[in-house]
Amino acid sequence: MASVIKTKKNAMLDVQAIRADFPILEHKIYDKPLIYFDNGATTQKPRCVVEKIENGYYNVNANIHRGVHFLSQAATEAHEEARKTIQQFLNARSSNEIVFTRGTTEAINLVASSFTDECMSAGDEVIVSVMEHHSNIVPWQIQAARKGITLKVIPMNEKGELNLDEYRKLFSERTKLVSVTHVSNVLGTVNPVAEIIEEAHRHGVPVLIDGAQSVPHMSVDVQALDPEFYVFSGHKVYGPTGIGVLYGKEEWLEKLPPYQGGGEMIASVSFEKTTFNELPFKFEAGTPDYIGSTALAEALRYVSRIGMDNIAAYEKELLDYATDKLNTIEGMRIFGQAADKGAVLSFLVGNIHHYDMGMLLDRLGIAVRTGHHCAQPLMQALGIEGTVRASFSFYNTKEEIDTFIAGIERVRKMF
Ligand code: PMP
Repeated sequence: MASVIKTKKNAMLDVQAIRADFPILEHKIYDKPLIYFDNGATTQKPRCVVEKIENGYYNVNANIHRGVHFLSQAATEAHEEARKTIQQFLNARSSNEIVFTRGTTEAINLVASSFTDECMSAGDEVIVSVMEHHSNIVPWQIQAARKGITLKVIPMNEKGELNLDEYRKLFSERTKLVSVTHVSNVLGTVNPVAEIIEEAHRHGVPVLIDGAQSVPHMSVDVQALDPEFYVFSGHKVYGPTGIGVLYGKEEWLEKLPPYQGGGEMIASVSFEKTTFNELPFKFEAGTPDYIGSTALAEALRYVSRIGMDNIAAYEKELLDYATDKLNTIEGMRIFGQAADKGAVLSFLVGNIHHYDMGMLLDRLGIAVRTGHHCAQPLMQALGIEGTVRASFSFYNTKEEIDTFIAGIERVRKMF
């Protein structure tokens, strides 16, 4: 169980108690304590999530939805309860609006495929932004090749903030969808999605928000934000790999055709005519990850116990602390200086290649990510090949940041 105490005067979280929930954080790498700053790629798992998976396979394992026997009904109940937990976490109107997918990538591919089939024809346009992850670019390009749709791209300023004036100019009578990320996985920019959605709605255009980097770090209310689609990955929010969520407004999910065919998603099948299941099952072909769903729900309960607002405030403290310290390093270039920014720091130091920096930090037990971060068009806009990226979680500490800064200094002096 999580042990969270919100007592200390200057700390919103009892980080040491939280760290005790994550066994992997006790590991040593090359004989040094692991400092895990690769949370943007995936987060570590608290004991309760791993135990939920173990308990699921040991005690509640049977294929769901079709079984009359006890275990099948118990597994079905657990899976559908998990859906309700996710509905409540996002404040969706109905659990019919929660579709389980393999992750953000599959959720975007689902919408790209079904939305394009139903709502777009050659010459129609989708607006994305320059800071999208490949998973919110390539699915649209695949549809562009199939259907002749086109992409329009919102540019950004030198701080890494989207240019909303340019965004407003991108709308035409051919605009059918806006699909943008809530938080950039490279720059940390928290995009003004409420404004972006409002503007799209003024044109009668629906919006998809990629929540892969927001759901783990801030409270998200889909009714308040009002996007038509909102997607995220379980593994980035302390849940298991292989499960994610597509939230879609019921009227839109009703309207879209199925993405994949198979078991679960049908009402009846004959060689003459097949009818599809009701929501959300219409989009869940095949045996779903009914263990992963319950473990994801457990992860969401875990972060809710800590409190999303506490998480956001503490991670902001870490970001400010690390930014100030990084800025004291000679030759430091930080990419992403948005006024509203999540706990992600992308940087380069002098002429040191990001890969060399990452390799040498690794020898000190510090896990950071290097490269283009699946955002090559953004790298092109920045005129670089890649960065070093440190991305923080609520289980990270200022002491770890101190060690990280000393590590960067050490590498810098080597070059
Ligand atoms: N969008 C963003 C903003 C991301 O950061 C990521 C993961 N790096 C994805 C989409 C893709 O997520 P997944 O690989 O879990 O499908």
